Amino acid sequence: MIAIYCRSKHRHVSEKQSNSQLCDECADLLQYAHKRLSMCRFGEQKTTCKRCPKHCYRSDYKARVKEVMRFAGPRMLIYHPTKALLHMYKTLIRR
Ligand SMILES: [Zn+2]
Repeated sequence: MIAIYCRSKHRHVSEKQSNSQLCDECADLLQYAHKRLSMCRFGEQKTTCKRCPKHCYRSDYKARVKEVMRFAGPRMLIYHPTKALLHMYKTLIRR
């Protein structure tokens, strides 16, 4: 998600480079998100952040993550259709 966001918004990465190449800001955000995920009791299962009762993200990071999600969400369908559909499916069955 962050890779899509970074590539589209910041354009630090050329198309030739791998998806994992992020700018410092995005790399920091990703690292933070992973750290929070590992600390959250839902762990990696917590794919649907909205449904997590705990406020895992610090407010400044939360705002950035929200922006990334809003930006990359629709684009997931283009770049990673299976991942996006899986995410939607998981959201639905958790209702
Ligand atoms: Zn970036």
